[in-house]
Amino acid sequence: MPACGCNARGKNDYICSMDNPLLIPSDLPFGAPRFDRIRPEHWLPAFRAAIAAGKAEADAVAFNPEPPTFANTVEALELAGSALDRVSGLFFNLLEAESDDAMQQMAEEVSPLLTEYEMYVSLNEALFARVKAVYDGRSALTLDPDQKKLLEESYRGFTRSGALLSPEDKKTYAALEEELSLLELRYGKNVLDATNAFSLEITDEADLEGLPQYVRDAAAQAAREKGRNGWRFDLTHPSYGPFLLFSARADLRERMWRAYNGRALGGPYDNRDICLRITDLRRRIAQLLGYADWAAYELEERMAKDIGAVRRLLDRLMGPSLPAARREVAELLAYAQQHGYREPQMQPWDFAYWSERFRAEHFDLSEEQLKPYFRLEDSIAAVFGLATRLYGVQFVPREDLPVYHPDVRVYDVQDGDGRHLALLYADFFPRTGKRGGAWMTNFRELAVRGGVEERPLVSIVTNFSKPTPDAPSLLTHDELTTLLHEFGHALHGMLAEGRYPSLTGTNVARDFVELPSQLMENWGFEPAWLHTFARHWQTGEPIPDALVERLVAARNYHAAYFQVRQLRFGLLDLAWHTLREEIPDQVGDDEKGVGDDGRHVIPAKTVIPAKTVIPAKTVIPAEAGISCLEVETRALADCAVLPDIPGSCISTAFHHIFDGGYSAGYYSYKWAEVLEADAFSLFRQKGIFSREAAAAFRENVLSKGGSEDEALLYRRFRGHDPDPDALLRKLEIKEI
Ligand SMILES: [Zn+2]
Repeated sequence: MPACGCNARGKNDYICSMDNPLLIPSDLPFGAPRFDRIRPEHWLPAFRAAIAAGKAEADAVAFNPEPPTFANTVEALELAGSALDRVSGLFFNLLEAESDDAMQQMAEEVSPLLTEYEMYVSLNEALFARVKAVYDGRSALTLDPDQKKLLEESYRGFTRSGALLSPEDKKTYAALEEELSLLELRYGKNVLDATNAFSLEITDEADLEGLPQYVRDAAAQAAREKGRNGWRFDLTHPSYGPFLLFSARADLRERMWRAYNGRALGGPYDNRDICLRITDLRRRIAQLLGYADWAAYELEERMAKDIGAVRRLLDRLMGPSLPAARREVAELLAYAQQHGYREPQMQPWDFAYWSERFRAEHFDLSEEQLKPYFRLEDSIAAVFGLATRLYGVQFVPREDLPVYHPDVRVYDVQDGDGRHLALLYADFFPRTGKRGGAWMTNFRELAVRGGVEERPLVSIVTNFSKPTPDAPSLLTHDELTTLLHEFGHALHGMLAEGRYPSLTGTNVARDFVELPSQLMENWGFEPAWLHTFARHWQTGEPIPDALVERLVAARNYHAAYFQVRQLRFGLLDLAWHTLREEIPDQVGDDEKGVGDDGRHVIPAKTVIPAKTVIPAKTVIPAEAGISCLEVETRALADCAVLPDIPGSCISTAFHHIFDGGYSAGYYSYKWAEVLEADAFSLFRQKGIFSREAAAAFRENVLSKGGSEDEALLYRRFRGHDPDPDALLRKLEIKEI
C-alpha cells in the first residue's frame, strides 16, 4: 500500500505518485483540478499509470470469483477507469483550448495507447460473458430505470462491436471495419485534395466588384502567401462563402460554384466509387450484426429509434416547406430581374448574391449596428440572470481556484437552496493554441463513487473579441446566440442529477443533445429579455425597439429555402444508408454518362416540377449497376428548388455522412430544431420567464441526462411527442 493516500478509493499502486498532480486527488474545494501544478512532463506518465489502473479494474470485474451481478459487473465496469477519465478529461480539453506542439505530439503518442485500452475492454470475452449473464437474467432483477438503461447500453456496447459473432464472422467484421476506416480516410483526403486543387487568381482589380474590403484583404494576403500578386480565392469556406455572397461578377461566381460543387467528381480525386463502396461496407457490417441496413444500426441508439419516425418528420416538414421555398426563389428571381438579372431561372451560383442584396435592402441590419448594445460583461450577467430567473441557480465567482490561462474565469454554481451544483469554467477570448469556434465540455462528469457524489466540472469555450484599452469586448448578435447556445449545453451538464457518468448531463442520444442548447438561443430574439440588459456601452441608451423588431423580422428570412436545403441533405443521407442490396464492385459512373471531365449528362431539370408531395421512398432498391449520381438523383429529384446543374454532386464531398460520423444522422439537425421549437412553445404559452415551464424542463430533461429513453423524457416534459408543426410555425412556413 502506498503511503501517500492516493489509494483512498480502492485504486492500486499504479496510480500512486506523490508528485504528479494528475494522479493525486485534488486538495481543492470541489476537487477542482490543480491547473497551477500540472506540468507538460506529467501527462504521459499519468496516462500510462491511469491506463494500467483501468485495465486492472476491468480485470478485477472480468475475473471476479463471485457470480456476476448488476453491482459487481455492470456498475463496476461503468465506474472503472476513473483515473483515466480524469486525465483524459483534462488533457483533451486543454488540447483544444490551450495547446502547443508538445501537446499535439503527446496526443499522437497517447492515441494508440487509448485505442489499445478501449479494445482491451470492448473485446474482452470474459467481461462480455459476465455482462451477458446479467443481461440474460434481467427479467428477474429489480432495477431502477437508470440501471436498466445502463445494463442495456453496456450489453449493446459489446454486441454492436460484434461480441455475439462466431469466430469466423468476427474476422469478417474486423476486415470490413478495417476497409471501411481506410476508405473513409481516403474519401476525406480526396475531398481535401480536390478542394485544394482549385483557386481563382484575380489580377485585375475591376474583377473584385462587389467584394467588401475585408474579403479583398484576405484574398490579397492569400495571394501573397503563395508568392503571387493580386488576389487569390479558393474553395475553403472563409474564401468561397463571401465570394458567392458578394461578388458582382456572375461569371466568376459560376466558376467558383462549379468548382466547389464538382469536387471529387471525376478527375484524380474521384469519390463516386468510394461513396458506393463505403455505403456497401456499412450495409454489410449492419447486416452481419443482424440489422436490416446501416440506418437501422445507427438509429437504434438515437431518440428517433427507427427510420419511419425520421421520414415522417422530414416529410411533414418538406410538405409545406417545398412550395414555400419555391415561392421564395420565385420572389427573389422577380426582384433580381427588376434589377437587371437576365436569366430565366435563378441559377444556384446567383442565389446567395441576390439573396444578400434583397436582405440588405429590406432587412437592413448590420452586426455593427447591434454590437454596441451587447457588452460581453453585460451579456454574461444577463445569461446568468436568465438562468437564475428560470431555474433559481446562482453563479458565485471563485478567484481562488486555479485556471489553465489567466483569461479563464471560474464560478461556483449553486442551486436556489445553496447546494453546490458544479464548477463552471468560462474561457471567452481567442489566443494562440486555442482552436476556433465555440464549445461546451466537461473536465469531469457527474458520478457517485462509493456513495460519494462528485459534481461536474463544466467548461464553455468561445472566441469572442477581447477588450481593448479603448473599448470593452462587444458581441455580435450571432455571438450572443453562441453564448446562449453553449450555456444551454452547460446547464445540461450543471443541473445533472444521477450516478452513472455515461448517463448523466450531455451524455444523451445525438439527436437529443442539441435540445437544451438550441432552446436557449430563443431568448436571444425575445425583446423582453434583450431589454433587460442591452444598453449602448458609451451612451447607456437602451437598444431601440425598431432595431430589435428588425432583428426578429430578419430571423426567418428565406427560412423555407434553408429548411429545404437541410431536408435534402437529410434525405440524401437516408437514401445512401437504406441501400439494402449488394452493390457490385467497380461500378463506374462513366458508363452512366459521366465523362472524364466529371460532367454527367443526366438531363438538367430545367423545369422544376410543381409537385409538392414527396413520394414515400422508404428504400431505394440498389439494383445492380446503380451509380453514385443515380442514388443522388433519385433521392432528390422531387424536391429541387434550384435547377440541377450537370457536373455537380453533393455526395462526393459530403463530409458529414461519409467520413464525419454523421452517417444516417444528418436528420438530427432538423430533429433537434423540432424539439426546441416545440419545447419553446411551452415558454411562449406560459411566459418566457415561466418558473413552471422551466421546472418541468429541468425535472424531465436537464436533470435526467440519458438515464432513461429520451423519447420518454421528452413526452413527460411536454405531454406529447415532438410536434414538427411547432417548427413550421416558428419559421412562419404556412400551408397553402
Ligand atoms: Zn451545440
